Amino acid sequence: MSDLKYLKRLFQAYYKEQQSEIPIVNLLEQREFGFIPWEKVIMIRHIGFNSQEALRNYFTSNAPRHAYMSGSIYRQPENQDMKSKGYQGCDLIIDIDVDHFYTSCKEDHDLWTCKECGKAGTGMPNKCPYCGKLKLSSLNWICEECLDIAKNEIIRLIYNFLNPDFGIDIDQMKITFSGHRGYHLKIENDKIRTLSTEDRREIADYLTGENISFEILGLQEKGGNIYGFSKQNIGWSQKIIKKIEEILRKPDSEIKNLLLDPRKFHFSQNLIKSFLNSKNDFLKIINSNNKNIWTIEGFGLTIWNKFLTSIVQEIGIEIDTPVTIDIHRLIRYPGSLHGKTGFKVQEIFPDEFDDFNPLDAKNEKSDPIVFKSNKSQKLEITETKVPMTKIKGEEFGPYNKGEIIEVPHHIAVFLLCREVAKTI
Ligand SMILES: [Zn+2]
Ligand SMILES: [Zn+2]
Repeated sequence: MSDLKYLKRLFQAYYKEQQSEIPIVNLLEQREFGFIPWEKVIMIRHIGFNSQEALRNYFTSNAPRHAYMSGSIYRQPENQDMKSKGYQGCDLIIDIDVDHFYTSCKEDHDLWTCKECGKAGTGMPNKCPYCGKLKLSSLNWICEECLDIAKNEIIRLIYNFLNPDFGIDIDQMKITFSGHRGYHLKIENDKIRTLSTEDRREIADYLTGENISFEILGLQEKGGNIYGFSKQNIGWSQKIIKKIEEILRKPDSEIKNLLLDPRKFHFSQNLIKSFLNSKNDFLKIINSNNKNIWTIEGFGLTIWNKFLTSIVQEIGIEIDTPVTIDIHRLIRYPGSLHGKTGFKVQEIFPDEFDDFNPLDAKNEKSDPIVFKSNKSQKLEITETKVPMTKIKGEEFGPYNKGEIIEVPHHIAVFLLCREVAKTI
């Protein structure tokens, strides 16, 4: 039996045993479903189900490799033509996935190989550092640190943006672990469902800080002075001032490192020196209610814009914007298994979220590692290099091609799903 067939059988057994655990989603009959089977990498979409039972039957008889559902609701979800589906509205979906942004631990666990010159390395360069070509193949790996960063983005998204600025109640938000390297947050609310694509783009821009205008917030040059903005104005103005204040209260050495960082502020030594010299005065100015003339030696309007752009990057949320904007996008079905990991796509209640670690969940009901077993399995590594995997507090690997390993069942399922090993 091929390994893919073996995995399909495992998924099928899971769906048969755990039928009752597959959650019911709101307005199921009006959702479009999509599946990727094991046999071929194709998306079978435009599928509708008229009951929870019909959906469960699909899972148990087909045991798909990946399962997705629309954020949109339609009168006829099964209609092949998008325009004839009878669009009724779409939930607001926000996706935070470390595939789309830099984390420093990727320097340890994400591998790339250049298809042009054959050189290889770690991290997430957008072009080959040796030959400059863009054709890179990559092996991105799961990691607790990355997932923790993604989790923190969701927490900031809720408590710094959605709740205070949009007035959305926490009980209207659904958080789901994607089964791999991120989380989705979904808001189901009749008013939000009516938002157009343009409205959604504006929300996405607001959350990321993309296209922000400092001029509109109040930054201007007048009579040789730079006028900044005020803490009193809620929204981005206040967020920026608070962030500046937070930075100014750090020790000089930390401020220096932050301002030097080429991925962040990337300031020259001279500018940093003058920033540190004015630190206390600047702190007083941003805390005063009437004086907002920002004076730091060497800081003209261009430098202030550069500084504020970097501040905005510190505050903005790392969302995958197309997911929020595209109303025809399908997202993973909660309770289904992710075919690239064998992990369950897990819904988490907001009050459980702070303590949730998908790779070492304490609560069995919300544990994404469903194939957990101490029974060991023998595999042969088929990928040149496989990074270390830490699951349930235990480390496995790194491995090299040709290595024969013996690992617990859930690790074997993970490595087989990632297609970096084969059964022997
Ligand atoms: Zn190259
Ligand atoms: Zn990581």
